[in-house]
Amino acid sequence: MKFQAPRGVKDLLPPASESFRRLEDEIRALFVLAGFREIRLPIFESAELFARSIGESTDIVEKEMYVFSTKGGETLALRPEGTASLIRAALEHRLADPGRIERLYYQGPMFRHERPQAGRLRQFHQAGAELIGSSDPDDDVDLIATVSRHAQATSIPSSRLLINSMGCAECRPAYREVLVRYLEKYRADLCETCRKRTETNPLRVLDCKIPQCQPILESAPHITDFLCPDSRNHFDHVSRGLEGEGIPFTLTHRLVRGLDYYTETAFEWVSDALGAQSTWAAGGRYNGLVRQLGGGDVPGVGLAIGFERLFLLRELAGTLPHFPDPAVLLAIHPLEEAARPYAHRIMASLREHGIPVVGLFGKTRMKKAFVQAEREGVRFIGLLGGDELSGGTITIKHLQSGIQKTVSAFPPEDLAKTLRETWSP
Ligand code: ATP
Ligand code: MG
Repeated sequence: MKFQAPRGVKDLLPPASESFRRLEDEIRALFVLAGFREIRLPIFESAELFARSIGESTDIVEKEMYVFSTKGGETLALRPEGTASLIRAALEHRLADPGRIERLYYQGPMFRHERPQAGRLRQFHQAGAELIGSSDPDDDVDLIATVSRHAQATSIPSSRLLINSMGCAECRPAYREVLVRYLEKYRADLCETCRKRTETNPLRVLDCKIPQCQPILESAPHITDFLCPDSRNHFDHVSRGLEGEGIPFTLTHRLVRGLDYYTETAFEWVSDALGAQSTWAAGGRYNGLVRQLGGGDVPGVGLAIGFERLFLLRELAGTLPHFPDPAVLLAIHPLEEAARPYAHRIMASLREHGIPVVGLFGKTRMKKAFVQAEREGVRFIGLLGGDELSGGTITIKHLQSGIQKTVSAFPPEDLAKTLRETWSP
């Protein structure tokens, strides 16, 4: 019997895994520079948490969640996104009390039962930053500008920022009504899902990708024509702020995001280089979410970056970070049994001095040892025979040039220095 990874799930092998890790470090550094601190969240939560916050009639909750029952009778779900968990945790640990500002970021795998395709997996990775406790539009501007500037600095190909307003509890109902009236006029021409959603969650209809619905949705009324004065002000302030920062954006009337908790500003970074799954990062304001999850009147704004898509884009741009090459500097090959403990000693002391080193213990034949060393991409091979053992030395061979010399193995800092400097290209 042979096992394979489940559909929609990817093993990440070196060297891609190393670049992925580097990319995670980079985004972490970006968030840390902007004042965010890490929160580690569980990978599963009560399914109800997601239904309540993301919305019952969203794709995620309707059909994409991995829900399971436990022996204890709980209904849990693998997290499909991070914001709901983060707010749940912030509330639980009193980080979302009224009057306080908290900046938190998270990173890790998310799970959605979707049809796998390029850029769409069932286990994928996100990093997200959430600013809880501020309703100031300049915080929207700062967060958006941080990511846009990073995109520019790392040459993400054809990246565009789309923004829209989702209005607020005051003005959204009025727009909702106008939209429903409009959609009902075209009911017969809309797809099944849109017809259903016209009743359950009409704003979701704008997100439909089915061709037959597009002409109708393109001419639908714009939410930005129905904003109340406060939402209008907020949105104008964000727009002007971005303009002031020289961050280009496109007002996109149909941008509603796939989650129901958004209010006011919603934004998305897309790239045509990605094909159909073009959004590589997205976010927005969620001024009602804390209250919805049982907290006070505490606003928030945040975003998440989709790592698999960011990875693809950085690969295309040729700005993917790499691990230093070679990863392993030295491979030690004991030529006789008696040299093995000596090999262990040298390896331990070199590692203490920051030299990545492996032992080629299983390859007793010199030729095989060299082949293995080359496969691992090492730069030097260190030979230990009787002479080396008695003299406290090591014979080092530079694989590429073939140059070989015998040097003292101790003190290790001298050997480390020799390895770093003598033959490094
Ligand atoms: P989409 O319209 O692509 O389905 P969404 O509205 O479901 O996106 P969010 O929940 O806002 O997306 O997720 C933020 C980002 O996470 C997306 O823009 C994307 O980069 C990434 N993402 C979402 N779902 C997947 C997935 N199944 N596989 C890979 N990346 C994903
Ligand atoms: Mg989705």
